[in-house]
Amino acid sequence: MVSFFWYGSCQRTKLIRVRITLNALRQSACWPALDKRHLCNDSYGMSQSQLRLPGPPRTCCQFTRAVPDGDSVVRDICSVCGHIHYVNPRIVVSAICSWGGRILLCRRAIEPRRGFWTPPGGFLEAGETAEAGALREALEEAEARIAIDRLLAVYDVVHAGQVQLVYRAQLLDGLFNPGPESLETKLFGWDDIPWAELAFPTSKWALTHARLVEGETEFAPFRNPSV
Ligand SMILES: [Zn+2]
Repeated sequence: MVSFFWYGSCQRTKLIRVRITLNALRQSACWPALDKRHLCNDSYGMSQSQLRLPGPPRTCCQFTRAVPDGDSVVRDICSVCGHIHYVNPRIVVSAICSWGGRILLCRRAIEPRRGFWTPPGGFLEAGETAEAGALREALEEAEARIAIDRLLAVYDVVHAGQVQLVYRAQLLDGLFNPGPESLETKLFGWDDIPWAELAFPTSKWALTHARLVEGETEFAPFRNPSV
């Protein structure tokens, strides 16, 4: 810390400048340039330089566990640059996509739950809206172009550190194919859905909830089932 005794206004300004510069140097000691890898489709018209996404800590970061000032949670704090490593839930976006009364599912080509079926979905990227993320996942996993109808459900998956947003959507043209992360993509009638081979509990929740409101236009988003 810089102590302020009496200085002329000019010297005080210089000291403040020095402190700002020192802080910048401390930051740059551990942190790489801003990470611009995840700048994509829908970023509210912001340019790359306006999207300020920090990259990962450098290896010179040395973390200790402590409660930051003004906080109430124990976190990893870098003793070199002061960076606080916050761990927050991640957002998963997916869509129950229908075509002619049938539902599009993907058989996963990747772990976890390789070989099991799930609606197209995945982690939201920085720089995109939740709806844009759901469109992107349908395209990536099933090469499907979809139109989102409305928000179907919000599920908390606390043990996995996730909040899942599930949309109801329609295929735009009925076309789909397995993307690199899918072994197979297929339309299922409600009675043919492979309930025992679904990848995740939330896959089952979302399909069950979608069926409950099939054809309905006014409903509140579902939450976790109570049982
Ligand atoms: Zn650091």
